[in-house]
Amino acid sequence: MKFSDLYQNGQFRYSVELFPPKSPGSVDALIQEVKRLCAIHPAYFSVTYGAMGSTRDLTKNIVLRLKKETKVPIASHFTCIASNRDQIKRYVEEILSQGIDLIVALRGDVPQDLKNHVPPQDGFRHANELVTFLKTHYPQLSIAVAGYPEKHLEAASPEEDLKNLQRKVEAGADVIITQLFFDNADFFNFVQQVRERGIKVPILPGILPVQNLKQVEKFTQMCGAKFPKPLQQRLINCQNDADQMKAVGVEHATSQCRELIAKQVTGIHFYSLNKADSVLKIAANTVLPA
Ligand code: FAD
Repeated sequence: MKFSDLYQNGQFRYSVELFPPKSPGSVDALIQEVKRLCAIHPAYFSVTYGAMGSTRDLTKNIVLRLKKETKVPIASHFTCIASNRDQIKRYVEEILSQGIDLIVALRGDVPQDLKNHVPPQDGFRHANELVTFLKTHYPQLSIAVAGYPEKHLEAASPEEDLKNLQRKVEAGADVIITQLFFDNADFFNFVQQVRERGIKVPILPGILPVQNLKQVEKFTQMCGAKFPKPLQQRLINCQNDADQMKAVGVEHATSQCRELIAKQVTGIHFYSLNKADSVLKIAANTVLPA
């Protein structure tokens, strides 16, 4: 299966990103959320992978459990920053043998407290090298890569970042999933620049339904996305009311999704944080795919 097969005949679809919980009790809770999320007929669920390989087994186990328990295609994320080629091969061969051929190929980040970490000698420094390796050894994989509407934090300029994105697509990526953003103008500008470079693969905007102020402050700081002042102020105004903060998040994401859909994006990728409520509300406010 290819990512592009999931959007046939121009049919708009949502997709949903999940992370692997650490405790077995939380896994059962996640499965319940996932079952509710199936109501929006996601194009796929994707499961994140810890940058240092720490969630290797957790990610694999959730990917395989979701494959058993839902009819929705499942994509595994994979980060290369801490893996050598044998470890990469082992992971990919394990998921392929279980029928998982969708992968989100990433570099990952070395955590602040492990800055002295030395990447494996026969590993990869950047995601484009990982994509080349994967496509060479496993041409049957369909690969998604990350794109950054507001530029990746480390990139010297938007042009450098776009050049590096182009490397990933030329290496064989089928689709680009973007980092979260709160101002659609950043996404539309990014798409225009990507298309001007001749990159034709679908671009799926990444939307975070805000759950809570502190969390968004942390995420935006980590990934370099802007946190627009009006949205921030609305969340500050209701920071002691968890339900109201989620309602603000739903309202903001709904207006983002409505505009993105009106501009005919291929699909929208939700950073769900393993919670179904906001995603279901936003989907109901916009479109429910048949
Ligand atoms: P790269 O494409 O390697 O880019 C990283 C930086 O290096 C950029 O500044 C780029 O411009 C530059 N660069 C790229 N190629 C080259 C090159 N050949 N030469 C010189 N410079 C280059 N993190 C996780 O730990 N686990 C996850 O599951 C996860 N999922 C994600 C999903 C999405 C959709 C997104 C947007 C991000 C995700 N991340 C995840 C975060 C991601 O790992 C970080 O953003 C990381 O810093 C960069 O990963 P990348 O794959 O974009 O790296």
